[in-house]
Amino acid sequence: MDDRTFRNAMGKFATGVTVITTDHGGESHGMTANAFMSVSLNPRLVVVSIGEKARMLEKIRESGKFAVNILSEQQQEVSMLFAGQLKEKREADLDTVQGVPVVKDALANVVCKVYGTQIVGDHTLFIGEVEDIVLRDGKPLTFYEGKYGKLAETQLI
Ligand code: FAD
Ligand code: NAD
Repeated sequence: MDDRTFRNAMGKFATGVTVITTDHGGESHGMTANAFMSVSLNPRLVVVSIGEKARMLEKIRESGKFAVNILSEQQQEVSMLFAGQLKEKREADLDTVQGVPVVKDALANVVCKVYGTQIVGDHTLFIGEVEDIVLRDGKPLTFYEGKYGKLAETQLI
């Protein structure tokens, strides 16, 4: 099996899209991530998985805090900005919650302090204890088979 087969298989798992944000020495840094899940209710824990080459890795290690921003269907460009997929540099539309930068107009800003870390292969799992949450109405941006998408208008449930 080659890496492409692995990625194609993982791409069959439809996800939302988040931007992980942190403050590092007074500067905000963001990174698009879909490797995110809710882990525990008591205590309230989430996990994100960050690649070993990502600049975000050391920034979270040093700040000890991060936010998970769940993007809306209007925010594909925000995802592309923080994945380095836009040709031009842009100003990011950020706010601050509990001293942590967050993405404006995201469906949720989940502010965390680092509860634990685990290096697994070429990624590091950051377990975050949730300290604050801001919620907004809207629909999610999705990622499936390596492509962005939106939820269908009608659902047969
Ligand atoms: P950089 O590459 O330096 O930063 C990312 C981009 O954000 C750069 O273009 C930078 O200019 C811009 N940026 C950062 N901060 C700001 C700011 N304050 N203002 C304006 N622009 C800013 N990688 C993972 O490790 N885990 C994942 O779960 C994951 N999921 C992904 C899901 C999707 C849908 C996509 C498209 C990519 C995913 N990636 C994931 C890849 C990851 O987003 C990229 O490799 C990313 O470029 C790595 O970020 P970095 O920390 O190295 O920083
Ligand atoms: P893709 O076909 O590479 O991604 C499909 C799926 O494969 C992703 O949803 C993810 O589950 C998995 N995947 C991809 N790269 C991975 C990696 N390095 N480690 C672990 N799992 C990985 O989609 P794409 O549009 O080519 O992705 C754009 C860029 O973002 C690529 O460089 C890709 O490597 C990166 N990405 C990284 C991760 C991650 O590190 N967890 C997740 C998604 C995308």
